Amino acid sequence: MIEYQQALDIILNAAQPLPAKRVETKNALGLSLSESIHSPNPMPLFDNAAMDGYGVRALDVTQATEETPVSLTVQETIQAGQTTNASLKPGHAFQVFTGAALPKGVDAVVMQEFTRQENDTVFIQHPVQKGDHIRYKGEEFEAGHPLLKPGVVLTPARLGLLASVGLAQVKVTPRPCVAIVTTGNELVEPGHALKPGQIYDSNGIALEAALTQLGITTTLYPRALDTPEALQHSLAQGLAQADVLITVGGVSVGKYDLVKTTLEALGVTQQFWKIAIKPGKPVFFGTYGEAPASKLIFGLPGNPVSALLTFHQLVKPALEKMAGQPVLPLHTNTARLTAPLKKRPGRLEFVRGMATCHQGQWHVTPTTGQGSHMLSGLADANCLILFPLEASLLEAEQPVAFTWLEPNSACHTSTGHEHAPPLVGAMG
Ligand code: AMP
Ligand code: MG
Repeated sequence: MIEYQQALDIILNAAQPLPAKRVETKNALGLSLSESIHSPNPMPLFDNAAMDGYGVRALDVTQATEETPVSLTVQETIQAGQTTNASLKPGHAFQVFTGAALPKGVDAVVMQEFTRQENDTVFIQHPVQKGDHIRYKGEEFEAGHPLLKPGVVLTPARLGLLASVGLAQVKVTPRPCVAIVTTGNELVEPGHALKPGQIYDSNGIALEAALTQLGITTTLYPRALDTPEALQHSLAQGLAQADVLITVGGVSVGKYDLVKTTLEALGVTQQFWKIAIKPGKPVFFGTYGEAPASKLIFGLPGNPVSALLTFHQLVKPALEKMAGQPVLPLHTNTARLTAPLKKRPGRLEFVRGMATCHQGQWHVTPTTGQGSHMLSGLADANCLILFPLEASLLEAEQPVAFTWLEPNSACHTSTGHEHAPPLVGAMG
């Protein structure tokens, strides 16, 4: 049995970024860019008005005040999207709207709020400096300017930036295709009646949702029965179609735990089986095909808490690495434990907990329902308390390490704020 960090190292060594691919910019949210982007154009593309108002020659209106406005003749009106070949004549102004291309001779824009128009005459009530309210061609960046580096994750703002310079496609590292095969004769789809001895399949929906949170669309295969034939059929399909195959259940030591032997018969090479963690000890990890393009196979245990936590702690980092995303080391915070915890030494335990902040100090309380089959204890948790491998006792009030199950949140010190992250997206 190997330790958690060793297992993660083996997984991350096998997981390599997928080959880059061109995609539509509009479909690239959250993906990792795999090329350098230099702007094909200057930004802005042309001198234009930053305000609704009047395009003038600044020198013509230096004397303008509210009481003694300068009157100019409106030469033409230019909307955003329009241009004119005319140049500004002496004693004239162009009426312009935000984004309108500025004609020759205009060197400042007077805001509409400082003007009054009557018929063809505009009264300018305020002087302007040369350049006021003009967005000059190339003032943000020139053509050829480096905009984005390979490896950046495409956020809404970055997608907007690409679109603003006209790039409809970008080269990215795609997200892996993932197949899930759940196994077990006892499982029934929610919404159908149960016969004695049967239970509802919760892992399929929970794991599919955890993948959806990562932006990954998944193929969820029909549940496989615990027979070599049924497993062989589903697993062979999953191996053929996906970059990553996740199986759930049937990977422990029972007579009907046939997943491991079936995978091996299909040509999967075992990289490890069993990790010194709780929950999730029986996890299997294997590879299929030649490195660096090998497919990864995760055999997760069937107990629903084990399945989700091993996904979170082992599968998710691999998927992030394959998608070219930064893989961050397990980030821990310190908190005071509110109740003692006991265990046998020998496994790192991920205790489901609720972290709350009191006067600048995190406190963690184990949730009720710590069995690896008890989803309610995980559903109530916002963090995992790390109970170290060799430890057997954590005392009340002692400092402990914990890791968030959902996006981080702040614990304010001086303001007296009490703040806990919301109970949504528990597997974020
Ligand atoms: P296994 O790993 O197949 O031995 O399953 C361990 C426990 O998890 C058993 O109690 C199974 O009934 C349960 N289990 C396995 N798969 C699922 C599933 N997809 N949904 C809910 N419970 C499951
Ligand atoms: Mg089973």
